[in-house]
Amino acid sequence: MMRQLTCVCCNAHYAPGETLWCPKCGFDDGILDVEFDIPAATWLLNATTLASRGLNHWRYRELLPLQKETRPSPEHIGWTPMIEAPRLAQALGIGRLRLKDDTRSASASFKDRASSVGVTLALEAGATDIACASTGNAASSLAHCAAAAGLRANIFVSERIPDGKLAQLLAYGARVFKVQGSYDQAWRLCMKACDAFGWYNRNCAINPYLVEGKKTGGLEIAEQCVSDPPDWVSASVGDGCSIAGIWKGLRQMNEVGFTNGRPKMLGVQAVGVAPIAKAFNGAPFKPGADGVTYADSIDCPVPRNWRKALNAVRESNGIYVTPNDEEIRAAVRETGRLTGCFAEPAAAAAIAGIATARRNGILGPKDSVVAVISGNGLKDIAGARSAIGEPNVVPPEFGEIERIVEKDRQP
Ligand SMILES: *Cc1c(COP(=O)(O)O)cnc(C)c1O
Repeated sequence: MMRQLTCVCCNAHYAPGETLWCPKCGFDDGILDVEFDIPAATWLLNATTLASRGLNHWRYRELLPLQKETRPSPEHIGWTPMIEAPRLAQALGIGRLRLKDDTRSASASFKDRASSVGVTLALEAGATDIACASTGNAASSLAHCAAAAGLRANIFVSERIPDGKLAQLLAYGARVFKVQGSYDQAWRLCMKACDAFGWYNRNCAINPYLVEGKKTGGLEIAEQCVSDPPDWVSASVGDGCSIAGIWKGLRQMNEVGFTNGRPKMLGVQAVGVAPIAKAFNGAPFKPGADGVTYADSIDCPVPRNWRKALNAVRESNGIYVTPNDEEIRAAVRETGRLTGCFAEPAAAAAIAGIATARRNGILGPKDSVVAVISGNGLKDIAGARSAIGEPNVVPPEFGEIERIVEKDRQP
């Protein structure tokens, strides 16, 4: 049950449904945070009630931005598995590693958690169209959830969108605007179109309800690890909505008394595009990039939700780290090889960040970490191919196979 919306910039309060952003601060700064009736949720959300609910993310309905009568979209989203990864933990030099495997989500990324909430709210508002601007996964996820629910999706993407994600959009029947410009330009066009055509706006940073969908990642980690909670949760950061949502979920499960403590957040940005990590280290926040990153899903030089993303990591007593692209490539390779989980570069960044944090002494050899694997490697084959090996090209002759197997046997 929602209580009110609070502006993260000026602290003004609004009623649920009153506005999507704070009119005093404007949509660049006036991002709202949804506050819930925690005592009521404490009463209703416990191990007994949860045991009787469906294994999907609507099981936390008291902490989701739904009205009493709202019927959520019937799709299965959420409750992705928690995978034990002992060999990767050993390679990273930490005590325990579990992967929150959202590569298995409906459209193969963590973004489904937000899109499903967006589509549910759009249906509730009587909209026929929904829109978003995205570096890729928010788009493919929205296109998926919209198609499943019978809404029309209008998608603004930048030219750099990887082929796999573009193919998903078109396969799900979305109307795609491939903007010949930056993500930021695509984002502003989308805002304008929503305003002009009355489309429901799924842009995460702007629409405060969507971060609540991403929160279910944190709610699930808390519930799935309740008997043995991690010391840290590692998540990669672009716009900042995912880590803010994950932290809020972990915090609220503690507030409602489901868990006894709260893990620390390890925020991971690619070193070339790390405006939030830089602000964390004391500099005033300044949008922009020092370089580039090939991890397209976290290539956000103008992050919309930097305040929430900063606050989340600070509140948790966590820290930001910034691996480089070579380290992210190694993480794609090692995660696949040592766990069987094929992560897209931005998702593998959460693993690369663990390696950085271990090297810097932030993580110790006994620490237990959950890494959020936020997107599937099949979405960006070109990105993956630059990180992994090549096949053995052979003539159809057994002798050649023997030669290669023999060579691999040598230490
Ligand atoms: C969107 C995304 C992120 C980062 O989430 P933000 O809310 O932009 O910080 C990380 N990984 C993947 C695969 C994503 O699609």
